[in-house]
Amino acid sequence: MSENTADKRHIAILGSTGSIGTQALEVLEANPDVFELEVLTAHSSADLLIEQALKFKPNCVVIGKEELFKKVQDALFDEGIKVFVGADSLVQVVQMDEIDVVLTALVGYAGLRPTLSAIEAGKHIALANKETLVVAGDIVTDLAKKKGVNIYPVDSEHSAIFQCLVGEFHNPIEKIYLTASGGPFRGQTREQLALVTKAQALKHPNWEMGAKITIDSASMMNKGLEVIEAKWLFGLKNEQIDVIVHPQSIIHSIVQFEDGSMKAQMGLPDMKLPIQYALAFPNRLKSDFPRFNFLDYPQLTFEQPDPKTFRNLALAFEALKQGGNQPCILNAANEIAVDAFLKDKVSFLQMSDIIEQSMQKVSFIKKPNYSDYVATDAETRRLALEIIN
Ligand code: NAD
Ligand code: MG
Repeated sequence: MSENTADKRHIAILGSTGSIGTQALEVLEANPDVFELEVLTAHSSADLLIEQALKFKPNCVVIGKEELFKKVQDALFDEGIKVFVGADSLVQVVQMDEIDVVLTALVGYAGLRPTLSAIEAGKHIALANKETLVVAGDIVTDLAKKKGVNIYPVDSEHSAIFQCLVGEFHNPIEKIYLTASGGPFRGQTREQLALVTKAQALKHPNWEMGAKITIDSASMMNKGLEVIEAKWLFGLKNEQIDVIVHPQSIIHSIVQFEDGSMKAQMGLPDMKLPIQYALAFPNRLKSDFPRFNFLDYPQLTFEQPDPKTFRNLALAFEALKQGGNQPCILNAANEIAVDAFLKDKVSFLQMSDIIEQSMQKVSFIKKPNYSDYVATDAETRRLALEIIN
């Protein structure tokens, strides 16, 4: 790095080879005067990680899988890019002095530890990894407050709420409406859902995403996780959060204030916008993202969600209501259930059974500490696997 980079924002991307990660790199590439890349990480996509590192020349990279370490190291040796391996390295690299903002674009519970570590070191967080807030939202937001760290939402709905709140600092929220596309199975009955295949579930009507969140969107668990995510991000009471199905995914979410006024944020569904907003906040960077054309969408429509058919949504609201470690149980059981569904071991509807049974059987803890969450996650995974096998 020869040029002066002090006035740039220095970014670490955890999960750079995924859907969010690769789109974040497009944002960085389009704004070389604004951002400087410090860290890239991937779990098993070594080839893509190497390609990204050769192109973006970060300070260091982390590969998750031990057996891929040598391959990545050999490929990046001549460039002087440091290479580390494993989950512990992830926890360490996020604390590097050079980093200003950590984008958490890795999937699942694995995001919790590196996110806490980054906050501990005073790094701002651009949060895509919603599971972190679902599992331990109290601990994460408390630590962020203590460290003076901002958590900028990347999830499109939460980015929408955040954008609606700019300039409203002293005005309390009456309630928020998170919009949901309804996914590929909107309007179907349980009889129909019993027969859906993995290939059908992996086809989302409006968004191109990683496999886990695509299945979560089909089952409505994604919206359930987002309700819990919203509680922690915006400090809301449970009854202030509502879900409305909006199949066109143009209105990304809505805030209702105490005078009854509602503010919504809208635009074409494109994750690059919320990613860029989170990384560049409070600035809006000029972009060439496709613009919305009203005539392409003569009607924006809204429906009630159907938690009787899509039971995962009801289970998430139940976990939210019970609080304690129940959302952590919900998340771990869901991760196991989705993985089993993707491996053709359980049917679409069985995913909800696994989650519900796990929520009933794992010991409830009203005020969990960090080790309680770690133990709850492990116990739930064990039990959920037992239910499946
Ligand atoms: P993805 O599966 O496309 O990518 C996941 C990334 O994380 C990859 O780089 C992978 O190498 C890495 N990874 C996977 N498991 C890991 C582990 N155990 N340890 C370390 N790294 C690991 O996922 P995605 O769709 O980009 O989603 C990432 C996160 O962002 C998820 O939490 C998801 O809910 C959230 N999110 C995604 C979207 C979207 O449009 N894709 C929208 C909103 C929120
Ligand atoms: Mg979302």
